[in-house]
Amino acid sequence: MKQLHTIAQCKQWIEAAKASGQTIGFVPTMGYLHEGHLALVNAAKQENDLVIMSIFVNPTQFGPGEDYEVYPRDENRDLALAKKVGVDVVFTPTVDEMYPKETTIQIVPGAQKNVLCGKSRPTHFDGVLQVILKLFNIVTPTTAYFGMKDAQQLAIIETFMEAFNFSTTIRRVPTIREEDGLAKSSRNVHLTEIERLEAPAIYKALQSGQALFRKTKNTAQTIETVRQQIETHTSGKIDYVELLAYPQLTPIDAHTTEVIIATAVHFAHTRLIDNIILQIEDEE
Ligand code: AMP
Repeated sequence: MKQLHTIAQCKQWIEAAKASGQTIGFVPTMGYLHEGHLALVNAAKQENDLVIMSIFVNPTQFGPGEDYEVYPRDENRDLALAKKVGVDVVFTPTVDEMYPKETTIQIVPGAQKNVLCGKSRPTHFDGVLQVILKLFNIVTPTTAYFGMKDAQQLAIIETFMEAFNFSTTIRRVPTIREEDGLAKSSRNVHLTEIERLEAPAIYKALQSGQALFRKTKNTAQTIETVRQQIETHTSGKIDYVELLAYPQLTPIDAHTTEVIIATAVHFAHTRLIDNIILQIEDEE
């Protein structure tokens, strides 16, 4: 496995790979790898000649007072894991390499950023699109892989790709969970022992919401049930519980075919997100 640090090295490698007709699968990450990331790599390996993973904790997607400084990092462990699952190239740029100077141009998502995480993290998705645009221009991937765990991010990236005619295909990869249902996340290491025991209640609450919504189609009641279960079974403070059409992220209506029930919960040292996506069955 090759490790590349600079944009120039990366572009050169990509150019050579493409010249020999190889397809490139791309897995962008912030590192501290877990099985969720590795599922993206496996999907990429199945469909591409070569797989490139970026590991970059992108400062522009963290707001003031968020966890940029304490975001978990362990490059050696990440490199060993990436090698083990068969990544061909790991791109690990520094912040100076990615952002040598302040830019005056911003990419701002539309209404999809005004709900869910975007409400409490108002500039988060601007930073996500900034880094994705840069990484896609560097890597020019054939196909890129994103996890459904970050469903709002995925919806916004899909909209971005379509709106600006990117050639890259985006693939959605289902959320990988611990045995007790907790969605795998680099941030899980920041849970206290007690919080770690409580945290699976988030997914259980979403599952109850899913069952209730299937039966009743009642948005308010579903949200309330999920809220109550999280409040009862965890010490976390709910940031939001929302139920929206997916991937539009608008309130549901008669035409909605897919629904997301999503939540974010603050624990003492970290904030966790999770969601369930369900199809509205045609009842005629
Ligand atoms: P991150 O390193 O947290 O920025 O995540 C990098 C990519 O891995 C994103 O596309 C995430 O959606 C995806 N990802 C993170 N956690 C999971 C998970 N538990 N299951 C599937 N994909 C995930």
